[in-house]
Amino acid sequence: MNHARSRASPPQSSDVSSGHLTKVAAVRLPHKPPSTLWDVSVADGRISSVDPHDERTPRQPGTLNGTERLLAPSLCHAHIHLDKCFLLQDPKFSDLQIEKGDFAEAMEMTGKAKSRFEEEDLLRRGRQLIEESITHGVTAMRAFVEVDAGVQNKCLDAGLTLKEEYADRCEVQICAFAQLPLFSGEHGGEPVRQLMSAAAGREGVDVLGSTPYVEQDEDRSREDVRWISGLALDHEKRLDLHLDYFLEEDKQPLIFDVLDILKEREWTQRNGKQITLGHCTRLCRFQEEDWQRLKREIEICSLPVAFVGLPTSDLFMMRTPEMVRGTLPVVEMIEKYGLEAAIAVNNVGNAFTPHGNCDPLGIASLGVGLYQTGTRLGAELLYATVSSRAKAVIGSETTSLDMTSGEPADFVLFDGPDAGWRRRKSIVEVVYDAGATRQTIRRGRLTTS
Ligand SMILES: [Zn+2]
Repeated sequence: MNHARSRASPPQSSDVSSGHLTKVAAVRLPHKPPSTLWDVSVADGRISSVDPHDERTPRQPGTLNGTERLLAPSLCHAHIHLDKCFLLQDPKFSDLQIEKGDFAEAMEMTGKAKSRFEEEDLLRRGRQLIEESITHGVTAMRAFVEVDAGVQNKCLDAGLTLKEEYADRCEVQICAFAQLPLFSGEHGGEPVRQLMSAAAGREGVDVLGSTPYVEQDEDRSREDVRWISGLALDHEKRLDLHLDYFLEEDKQPLIFDVLDILKEREWTQRNGKQITLGHCTRLCRFQEEDWQRLKREIEICSLPVAFVGLPTSDLFMMRTPEMVRGTLPVVEMIEKYGLEAAIAVNNVGNAFTPHGNCDPLGIASLGVGLYQTGTRLGAELLYATVSSRAKAVIGSETTSLDMTSGEPADFVLFDGPDAGWRRRKSIVEVVYDAGATRQTIRRGRLTTS
């Protein structure tokens, strides 16, 4: 972000006017001693070598002076809603403000806003979300766009336009998503199914998603999963479900039915792609035997299942009458049960999640308290849940904290060149307090100005 200023004031100068880098010089790296400086060389968008920094080495063209800042793998939104972002900020929807702050109001308010969605505001708000995300260090995201009888294909069309527009700055995966029932409500969900079937055949749609818990009963919830998983298999798309978004202990979760349905569908034998399950707040009521069963059932069939915790939304939207709140215990799921999991922002600036911004590290930082994970290793795991693990969960190529040769040159450089002693030197410092000033590099190219 201070790139322009750094170019204007030697010795911070860097010959990176084209944005294409051959080297990021004099940086701290996550898994190296914080007192050491390194040069990370880049070729064909990948790390070609990592060498100790030597002041005497002549600077080659395309070198970005890292000025002793921390260079780390870039960030990823494993789950973000592109079409309903910034509704609380956009003057077009200023009449729609939160009065109660519950789930029913969020559905109603967002429904009203959706009825007024147009290409102009969808593109404007979506662009804002992607731009802000890039300034925070994001190089990949799974963007949800809703498909239903009201919005028809408006959100999807805008999402596909933005995917194309940002192709060289950020990987934007498009998930065509049925927030409304596929088998309940008006006309038994038939219009939504028709639109989703058409969306599944469109080039550029990477993922298909639905929301089984909005169906009117459990039979229809199962029907929803059966239908959308069949569609994903037929069209060779990834699958992403908003699942078990409630906390009541006496209400049974659908997760084991979902796994059974995927087995019936012979997901693994048919080379089914990745399956991602979001929210799943009900699982925080699981006992040890439930977790063991979950782990076992996923392992037995080698199902490519991953989970995404969405804690800011969960904390704001979900509570029992006894004021019990909960979110997926993502750290425990990874460490104790070896499950694939990440955390994500979910919503920005709407009635489902009015607080927070487009910074995935805001969620990782919340995780320190939420999962009581304050150690260096704990912080590195939290960082991974918005970086390499988030990318893995959406099937995007990853760069590890080891930052080794051959990995994609997808980085975030923390702080500005003039940060002095306050500059962050390690991942744990970043997770405690990431700071606002960053530069983002995707496939060896600066994507921030
Ligand atoms: Zn969501």
